[in-house]
Amino acid sequence: MVIVMKPGASDASIKHVIDYVTENGFQTHLSKGTETTIIGLIGDKSKLNYDNLKIFEGVDKLVQVTESYKLANKKFHPKPSKIKVGNTYIGPDNLTIMAGPCAVENEDQMMIVAEAVKKAGATIIRGGAYKPRTSPYSFQGLGEEGLKYMKEASEATGLATISEVISLESVNAAAKYVDMLQIGARNMQNFYLLKEVGRTGLPVLLKRGLSSTIDEWLNAAEYIISEGNPNVVLCERGIRTFETATRNTLDISAVPVLKERTHLPVVVDPSHATGVRSYVTPLAKSAIAAGADGLMIEVHNDPAKALSDGAQSLTFEQFENLTKEIRPYAELSKRTF
Ligand code: PEP
Ligand code: MN
Repeated sequence: MVIVMKPGASDASIKHVIDYVTENGFQTHLSKGTETTIIGLIGDKSKLNYDNLKIFEGVDKLVQVTESYKLANKKFHPKPSKIKVGNTYIGPDNLTIMAGPCAVENEDQMMIVAEAVKKAGATIIRGGAYKPRTSPYSFQGLGEEGLKYMKEASEATGLATISEVISLESVNAAAKYVDMLQIGARNMQNFYLLKEVGRTGLPVLLKRGLSSTIDEWLNAAEYIISEGNPNVVLCERGIRTFETATRNTLDISAVPVLKERTHLPVVVDPSHATGVRSYVTPLAKSAIAAGADGLMIEVHNDPAKALSDGAQSLTFEQFENLTKEIRPYAELSKRTF
C-alpha cells in the first residue's frame, strides 16, 4: 500500500502520517518528488484503519500495491533510480556501456581490453574472476588474482569495474576490488547470496534467471533492496525457449515491461542472449530503442583464443563499430555515452 500525499503537503503532515503508521507496526519508505510525496508501507494491512488515515491532513489517496515486491515497485518510488558505480552512474539520461572479456585471463589482457573499450566509449569494464561454468572441466576463473587485475586496469584507465560473485567468499573478495557486483543468471534465485550482496551496500547488477519470469526477477531484486541496498540494476540476458538458432532468446519486451513496473535501471546483454557475435550489434540497437539504460557487451583481444564465450565476443574493431552504430539510437533516446 502507498499513501499519496497532496502536492505541496507540509513536512509536518508527512511526519504525522509516518509516525501514525509506524506506531501501527509498519515500515515506511519515503519517496519525495518535486511535487508529490509518496509513503510506501510494508506490513500487515489488516491492522490499518483506512478511513482514519484517509482524512489525515495532506493525504490525497491510498493506493493498494498487490505485487509482492514493494521497494522495487514503481508505485513505491515513481522516479527512475540513478545508480552510482565508481565515477559514473546508470540511470535515466545515460547510456552506460559495460564491456570486457567473459573471464579475466591474465594481467596484460585486462589492461589491453580496458584501454580499448574505454577508447570506444565504455565506462565500466567487465570480467569474470569466478566463472559459473556448465562443465566442471571448463576454465573456472582466476579468483581473487583476477579481481586484482581488474583493479589495476581500473586504476590505469579510470573505468569502473564489475565482476560476478557466486559465494560468500567471492562476495568478500570482490567487495575489496571492484565497484559493482554481478549476480549471474544461474544465481538469480540464490536468496542467501542475494541477501549477502544486499548487506555489502555495493551496486549490484542482477541478471535475469535462465527461465525466470519478470515477477520472480523483481522479487529477487526485492531481496537485495530489503537488506538496505537500493543500488540494484536489472540485466536482461536472454531466456530459455524452444528456439535453437541463438543460445537464448532475448526478451526485448522485458525492457518496457520493467520500465512500467520498476524504478530500477535496466541493462541488456545481447552477448549472452545470442551467443553469436554477428547478432550483438543489431540487438544492442533494439535494446536502446526499447528504452534500456545500458548494454553489457563481451569484448576480447583475441576471441578465437578466449577461454570462455569466444564465439560471442567482439574484437576491438567490431566493438568500436558497435559504439559508432548505436550512437544515433542513443541520441534519439536522449541518452549520452
Ligand atoms: C557473464 O556475464 O559472464 C555470465 C556468465 O552471464 P549469465 O549469468 O548471464 O550467463
Ligand atoms: Mn560470458
